Amino acid sequence: MNRRAPNLDDDAAERDRMILDSVDRWLDRDVKQHVMRLEHGDIYPAEIVEQMKEMGLFGAIIPEEFGGLGLRPSTYAKIIERIAITWMSLSGIINSHLIMAYIVMKNGTEQQKEAFLPRFATGELRGGLALTEPDCGTDLQAIRMTAKRDGDDYVINGTKTWISNGIEGSCFALLVKTDTKADPRHKGMSMFIAEKGEGFTVSRKLEKLGYKGIDSAELVFDNYRIPASRLIGETEGRGMICAISGLELGRLNVAARGVGVAQAALDEATRYSQQRSTFGKPIHQHQAIALKLADMVTRVTASRLLVENAAAALDRGERCDFETGMAKLFATESALKNAEEALRIHGGYGYSKEFPVERLYRDAPLLCIGEGTNEIQRLIIARRHIERNPL
Ligand SMILES: Cc1cc2nc3c(=O)[nH]c(=O)nc-3n(C[C@H](O)[C@H](O)[C@H](O)COP(=O)(O)OP(=O)(O)OC[C@H]3O[C@@H](n4cnc5c(N)ncnc54)[C@H](O)[C@@H]3O)c2cc1C
Repeated sequence: MNRRAPNLDDDAAERDRMILDSVDRWLDRDVKQHVMRLEHGDIYPAEIVEQMKEMGLFGAIIPEEFGGLGLRPSTYAKIIERIAITWMSLSGIINSHLIMAYIVMKNGTEQQKEAFLPRFATGELRGGLALTEPDCGTDLQAIRMTAKRDGDDYVINGTKTWISNGIEGSCFALLVKTDTKADPRHKGMSMFIAEKGEGFTVSRKLEKLGYKGIDSAELVFDNYRIPASRLIGETEGRGMICAISGLELGRLNVAARGVGVAQAALDEATRYSQQRSTFGKPIHQHQAIALKLADMVTRVTASRLLVENAAAALDRGERCDFETGMAKLFATESALKNAEEALRIHGGYGYSKEFPVERLYRDAPLLCIGEGTNEIQRLIIARRHIERNPL
């Protein structure tokens, strides 16, 4: 008998499979039945978040030495796809938390890693990413929030907006200007690990089209005092590098969410098109509907392959803005298109709150905006393509 000895890859694959199976069971058993109520009431899913903590999902990509599950980005992407098939909002709760953890993992000092990663891994500290301000999102170098050195501390003033987990979260990767006159501007930017405290308040919850249940908030910093030891990497001027490193994981997450939403739309359309009959036959037998289904399943399959390609590059630790950019662009546009097609296939019922497709139709556009708009993804992809193909 020619039996191969098990190796480390087999062990990792088996562990991944077990984790993905337990995520599937949890979504089926504990989440699905609550989605409609939580979504339409815009209710924060507190109980589900506790279950996510118990499963270790808040430490999904945090190394085991810091108490996390130590999963590869490719496994993390598969978890996010599954969650987004069920309810996209839940994937946002871990996304910005893990972006914050990832930034500390990649850029923090050893002391910062030891102090924060174990608390992120258990979910005791709930992280978020605070980049966007009322006057700028894409052009991050235009931020106005300042951090001025004062002895062993910095004093921070300014406003952040659209911050996911802003109300329920406790600790934020905060992008600031430590030098407002720096040229180029990014050299004057730094990032802090900012825990809630005096001078740091939530000024309002923002109401949204979709992405219900998860809190999006405006945060105000008014002479917020923070020790210099909370400056990530303890070096000024590395804020944009920190933000970009975090967004690599964030883009993979959003791309995987895109696959999940596109798949959910396909699932709903596939089911409904076999249940609903017009002119004496199920609607999938009408060519107009069949063509839509064919395009939808093709988009899902292509999106998943692009996400796998990007995740594999991130697993290998390679620079992957090209790969994550393409995955994010294609998977999120696919989610948007599939959500619209699923709604049309449902006819009038697609417009009803009693069917999930209207939620997918409200959720999908966010994916084209967050973690770098798709206009910007196209610019990044084109720039990298030319760099790789010089004359
Ligand atoms: C629900 C939700 C959750 C969010 N969560 C977070 C969060 O947790 N943390 C956080 O920091 N931010 C968060 N954001 C903010 C999000 O990242 C920004 O909205 C996004 O980056 C776009 O920035 P903006 O809204 O300022 O748009 P703008 O930058 O004003 O862009 C407006 C339009 O112009 C286009 N555009 C801008 N510059 C260019 C250019 N150079 N070339 C071509 N087109 C361009 C854009 O693509 C867009 O179409 C969230 C937003 C939403 C809606």
